[in-house]
Amino acid sequence: MPKAKHCEAVRVVVRCRPFSRREETADCENIMHIDDRLGQITLKKPKAPPDEPMKVFTFDSVYGWDSKQGDIYDDAVRPLVDSVLQGFNGTIFAYGQTGTGKTHTMQGVSNDPEMRGVIPNSFQHIFTQISRTQNQKYLVRSSYLEIYQEEIRDLLCRDNNRKLELKENPDFGVYVKDLSSVVTKNATEIEHVMNLGNQSRSVGFTNMNERSSRSHAIFLITVECSEAGPDGEDHIRVGKLNMVDLAGSERQSKSGAKGLRLKEAAKINLSLSALGNVISALVDGKSTHVPYRDSKLTRLLQDSLGGNAKTVMIATVGPSHKNFDESLATLRYANRAKNI
Ligand code: ADP
Ligand code: MG
Repeated sequence: MPKAKHCEAVRVVVRCRPFSRREETADCENIMHIDDRLGQITLKKPKAPPDEPMKVFTFDSVYGWDSKQGDIYDDAVRPLVDSVLQGFNGTIFAYGQTGTGKTHTMQGVSNDPEMRGVIPNSFQHIFTQISRTQNQKYLVRSSYLEIYQEEIRDLLCRDNNRKLELKENPDFGVYVKDLSSVVTKNATEIEHVMNLGNQSRSVGFTNMNERSSRSHAIFLITVECSEAGPDGEDHIRVGKLNMVDLAGSERQSKSGAKGLRLKEAAKINLSLSALGNVISALVDGKSTHVPYRDSKLTRLLQDSLGGNAKTVMIATVGPSHKNFDESLATLRYANRAKNI
């Protein structure tokens, strides 16, 4: 198989959202300085003495408050999706504190072309590329699932409270048993699938943000391509694209979580730190052990992280001094995922 071009194994980018109206009226101080030419983000600690050095981080790319959805797609995501069309696996994560723009980045606003996020932009990209090919036949399938409290639920199934199991099989590797998989023929159809799943995400919770801040949502697209080779035989290649809106990375213990909330928080922390450990073991390259088995998330994504697979992590932060601690934690997490 040819090596995918223009796309390193792991890319880490950071996006800082603009001030919200509430932050503007509350006189929040902007503590983020973004230099997109150098890929640098500088974090100023509120009330720090003037001689205290500022925290500076460098990433593959950094995007400020005025960044466009289309720029993020073209720079950070498009090469990965191209490699999926060539038969590689890939994963895009949005990581960050609740309220910093993970869902905005991944979903965006679908009825406004300028505001469409990574997921709907990938639909357009995939089906446009497919329509340009002549000698290949494509089959595009999608699944949409959620991991909440280390339990997997199918967002495309009516009975979405059913817990699904992770299975392993020598032919397919790790897979989710009984997960719905919907064949779609164009961008409109697959968008309908996404909307259906989004509706079932909010069921059982008083508001969407409450659930999304504590669960991981994974939109999976499998692109199968068959092409007649010079020998007259059909050759099939399969690429998988996982697009993941992660649970909020905020430390939940600070908010005085008790009982169920505390248990939830422990599971979120566990899976996010398992993900961090897997990615840093992969970028390190010297690690003999990659701890995929430590969480459902990393087990499920095992064949789409590492090996020939490509990964893009989009870390999201807010500009306000009130979020200094969380923003610093996000940048440190993202920094660990970098290939140095
Ligand atoms: P998260 O999913 O991380 O909890 P959201 O995506 O829901 O955060 O974003 C929180 C709010 O901030 C939303 O109202 C969203 O529209 C807004 N927002 C986030 N990122 C941006 C951005 N880059 N530009 C404009 N608004 C944004
Ligand atoms: Mg969200």
